Amino acid sequence: MTARRIDGKTLSAQVRTEVAARAAALTASGRQPALAVILVGGDPASQVYVRNKIAACKQAGIRSIHETYGAELREGELLARIHALNQDDGVHGILVQLPLPPHINAQRVIEAISPRKDVDGFHVANAGALMVGQPGFRPCTPLGCMRMLEHVGMSNLRGKHAVVVGRSNIVGKPMALMLLGADATVTIAHSGTPDLAATCRQADVLVAAAGKPRMITGSMIKPGAVVIDVGINRLPDGTLCGDVDFASAEGVADWITPVPGGVGPMTIAMLLANTVQACEQY
Ligand code: NAD
Repeated sequence: MTARRIDGKTLSAQVRTEVAARAAALTASGRQPALAVILVGGDPASQVYVRNKIAACKQAGIRSIHETYGAELREGELLARIHALNQDDGVHGILVQLPLPPHINAQRVIEAISPRKDVDGFHVANAGALMVGQPGFRPCTPLGCMRMLEHVGMSNLRGKHAVVVGRSNIVGKPMALMLLGADATVTIAHSGTPDLAATCRQADVLVAAAGKPRMITGSMIKPGAVVIDVGINRLPDGTLCGDVDFASAEGVADWITPVPGGVGPMTIAMLLANTVQACEQY
């Protein structure tokens, strides 16, 4: 058996088309959705991410406000800028690209963003809303993964076991909560999980978000499972790979996401969707 691929490029293009139509309707009514993207410091990967987000906004008809500051920016100055954007009725979403320089407290910065403009879904108000199943902004990467599951007919996970490898606040934990919300039985595995292979083999839905190149091999996958690979790892030769060893996994799984071209493009598409939602609710 060779696994079917969940094509993140095609699916994200669909989402972006839907988003562009909603953005156009808002613009026609005199309220163009706008996203402020703040970058502090010169981290090359962050620069690429920000550039991609801004290009995606443009393509979807979302206005973007791009602010770049040197790594020496003081935390108070950043907080003041966020307060000003919170007050600006022409801005519907605010995103501060992480990581921030070490002298800035990232959680304090996230909490300064109005929850109504927190299109990354990292504010405790939105994290809490996810926890208790209330409406709010959901983090873009797990939201994109859920959209992929929906696409392969796995939106109702009652009776299914989902295993998430990784427990970060931006991917692993919200992913697990969204899977719970879809009625799955959920296990979160992490670096302290004793028998990771045995845990993973129980998964009907396996989400890998550990940031460890090719750590999930075919022998750790239950035959017929859906495998979502969130990992983006750069190998010494410059190529990208996921947390899943695609070559051995595709002989065991039923569905699998490639890297690149899987979860990555979905994340940006969901950011655009959240921004349009922020404007619609404004
Ligand atoms: P993180 O470093 O904050 O968290 C990694 C998690 O993996 C931790 O909870 C850790 O306990 C767990 N882990 C590490 N080694 C492990 C091991 N050997 N066995 C089991 N668990 C282990 O990372 P993150 O920010 O959540 O990102 C995870 C990966 O997802 C990275 O590769 C990152 O680049 C990628 N990512 C992709 C997107 C996307 O759009 N596709 C978005 C965000 C993150």
